[in-house]
Parts: sequence; C-alpha cells; structure tokens
Amino acid sequence: MHTRHVPPNISVIGGGILGLTMACTLLKQGFSVTLIDGEGVAGRASSATAGIIGGSSVIPWASTDLWMNVPRMLRNPDGPLRVIWPPSKNILPFIFKSIKAGTSRHRIKSAKGLAELGLRGWKAWMRLSNDYPELKSLFNQNGCLLYYSNPQENYYDSANNMKRREMGMRLMPLGSQEIQDLLPSVTHPKPSGTLIEQAGNINDPILFQSTLKDLIKKAGGTFVCQKALGFITEAEHVRAVKTRLGNIDCDAAIICAGAGSAALSRKLSTKACILPAWGASITLHEAEIILKLPLLNQISGIAVLPNLDGLRVAGLLQLGGRSKHREELMEKILLRYVQKLFGHFPYQRLSGQFGPRPLTPDSLPVLGSAPNYKNAYFNFGHGHWGITHAAISANIIVDLIIDGTSKIDITPYKPDRF
Ligand SMILES: Cc1cc2nc3c(=O)[nH]c(=O)nc-3n(C[C@H](O)[C@H](O)[C@H](O)COP(=O)(O)OP(=O)(O)OC[C@H]3O[C@@H](n4cnc5c(N)ncnc54)[C@H](O)[C@@H]3O)c2cc1C
Repeated sequence: MHTRHVPPNISVIGGGILGLTMACTLLKQGFSVTLIDGEGVAGRASSATAGIIGGSSVIPWASTDLWMNVPRMLRNPDGPLRVIWPPSKNILPFIFKSIKAGTSRHRIKSAKGLAELGLRGWKAWMRLSNDYPELKSLFNQNGCLLYYSNPQENYYDSANNMKRREMGMRLMPLGSQEIQDLLPSVTHPKPSGTLIEQAGNINDPILFQSTLKDLIKKAGGTFVCQKALGFITEAEHVRAVKTRLGNIDCDAAIICAGAGSAALSRKLSTKACILPAWGASITLHEAEIILKLPLLNQISGIAVLPNLDGLRVAGLLQLGGRSKHREELMEKILLRYVQKLFGHFPYQRLSGQFGPRPLTPDSLPVLGSAPNYKNAYFNFGHGHWGITHAAISANIIVDLIIDGTSKIDITPYKPDRF
C-alpha cells in the first residue's frame, strides 16, 4: 500500500510583500502554505512603498550626520521627518541603539550586510518571475536615478557614492544636459544625478500584491484572514499559531509581519527591536508626465517613479501617531515636491497610501532561524529596502528550512543581536 507524501505545512504570518513572496517561494519548493494576515492591503508598508529594487540599498539610514541634521529637518514643514504624538513605545531604546549603529565602524558592517542582500535583490526577483511568468510585466528595469536638484546636493551625496562603488554598485554620473535630455520636464536650472544601472522597480505595488495573492491561491496556498496572537509550543517546537478563531496547526512558522513582527517574536522569546517608521505615497493617475525610470532624491527623502497608469511619489518618515489611514499632510508635501520638480502638470485623480516601514536601528533585517525554536523562522525588519530584499530573503529562509544552512552569511541579521 502506498502512503501519500504530505508536504510539510508552513504558516507564514504577514501578507505584505515579504510574506507573499515567502509563500510563493515555499509553494514552488513543494511546501504547503497557510498565509495568516488580519488586515487588507491598506495600511501596509508594501502598499505605500516606492517599489524601487536596488536603488540606493547599501547605505544604512543611521549616521552621525543624520543626527546633526534632525533639528533642521524637524523645523522644515516640508522636510522628510515628522514626529507626532503619541510617541512609539520603544522610541528611546531604539534611538540609543541607532546612535551606536550610526558610528563609522558599525556603519561599515551594516553597509556590507545591506549589500549582501541589496545587490542580489534584482536577480532573485528575476528567478522568481521565471517560476511565475505572470510577474514579469510588473517590473521595469531601467536603472534608478539619484537626483540632485542643485550642485550642493550632488556634493552632499558624494561620500555615499564612494561607499556605493566600494560595495560593488555600478554608477554613472550625469551632468545637467544629460538630466535635461532624460527628464525634459524638470524645472531646476542646474540638476545633476547618478545613475545606478543595476536597478529597477515594480510598476504598481497594489497590483503586484494582488497578483502574488492570486498566484498563491492558484498554487494551492490557503489564506486565513486573522491576526496571529501567539503560538502553541512544545519542546522547542511551534505546533500551531493562535488566532481569535482557533489554532492553526503547522509544521513550521515564519514571521513576516513587518512592523507587527516584534510583538510576535517576543512570544517566541526573542526581543527584536523594530520601530514603525511611517511613510506615504501618492499615485497621480494618468499624469501627463512620462518618466522612464525611478528617481530618488535623498535630501527630501522622496522617490518619483513611473506607475502603471501614471506617476507615483513616495517617501517621508513619520514617527509616532496612531492612524493607519491616509495622511493628508504627507500627501500634500509629496504633491508639492513633484510639482516643484515638474511644474503644475495635469492628472486625472490622486490616490494615497500610508504604511509603516519595519525599521531596525542598524538598517539590517531580522533574518534566520528563531534562536529558541527548531521550526520557527524570522523574515522581517527590512526597513527602507524590503521590496529589494523580499525574493532573496525568501530564498535564504527556504534554504534554512530544507538544508539547515544558507549560501549567504546571515550572521549580520541574527535575530538576537539587539
Ligand atoms: C514610503 C515608502 C517607500 C519605500 N520605498 C522602498 C523602495 O523604493 N524600495 C524598497 O526596497 N523598499 C521600499 N520601502 C520599504 C518596503 O516597502 C518595506 O520594507 C516592505 O514593504 C515591508 O514589507 P513587509 O511585508 O515586511 O511589511 P508590510 O507591508 O507592512 O506587511 C506586514 C503585514 O503583516 C501584517 N501583520 C502584522 N502583525 C500581524 C499579526 N500579528 N498577525 C497577522 N498579520 C500581521 C500586517 O497587517 C501587514 O499586512 C518603502 C517603504 C515606504 C513606507
């Protein structure tokens, strides 16, 4: 008599791009998958994202320079940073850890850790889209332009450009004439830029997530629309995920719950340090501006890029506050930015998204096996670069599940480093 082989059932917690990509990758390897997420697409980082893959992804966010600039940023009503009431619970320990992570010795470690994932990001996505050809039309690969509106901005970014080159990024400096040829609608008199060649973007983050969801359903994955509350564990093993509607049995569990992951990892005795760093995006549908590639202005913290049916403007960072919904003030700042860049151009309609980047103090994700459980894994905390990292991180977790080891050195992402 034949016994039927039953594939191990893996619970993936979190339905943003990290969780969805994790589920697709597991299904391709023959696992059975249950994806657990209590909320819809609104209020996720993956919906508010710019969606650039590999843009500036080797520069850690925390630095001594940044701390010195914080007062100036907070005074500027159109600046990249807002702090509002009530503050996030763990803000003070997070800031102390970030100050340490921003010193030059620690920044080098973080940059290397980011490069390991960031420079592999695009290829990993292309491999996944070979498995799921429906994804192919949702990517653009035209590079990414680091845009400087004046010579001072260019000068300010030159140290970062050295670091990017050191980490292996191919960069091409572009002068005013080249920028004006590439972006004829730009209004700044002396723009310049740095083109990152090995980069691209997803051309509609909401459609991208719904396509991944459809692919998971088609491949036999199951969705449970519930918040994960904790775990049933036994002898260093997770046996089930607890939800208000009952327990979901599993052979292994992976936490991919973005800014909600720290609370869940505590239930598995690991203290991860994650701060929700809210960001926003607007899509200007049928905008009369044609843009072939994403542009990223580091000073304003804003990216402008082609969306499937128009132009997408994303960025800014808000700490604190409770709302999970569209943030009008941030939307106005984004609109003012793009109107300064291209003048007042027509568009049909504006839609907006707001979501929390799962930020760690050292810019590195929490990626690997749970320290105290043999069948639990963490894949969260990808901060500013979760879209870039999603496919390569999913490969790393699958390797850990199948072989117990990873081809990439994952010690920089250790869950218990905080
Ligand atoms: C404005 C902005 C611009 C960005 N630009 C870029 C970019 O250009 N390139 C790039 O690579 N990255 C970018 N990022 C970062 C990137 O978008 C994020 O790192 C990534 O989307 C994080 O995905 P995630 O799946 O981890 O989190 P999310 O998308 O936030 O999804 C987490 C999901 O987990 C669910 N969840 C939480 N707790 C639980 C629980 N207990 N039970 C069940 N479900 C739970 C939430 O409901 C949510 O659906 C940007 C982010 C923002 C905000």
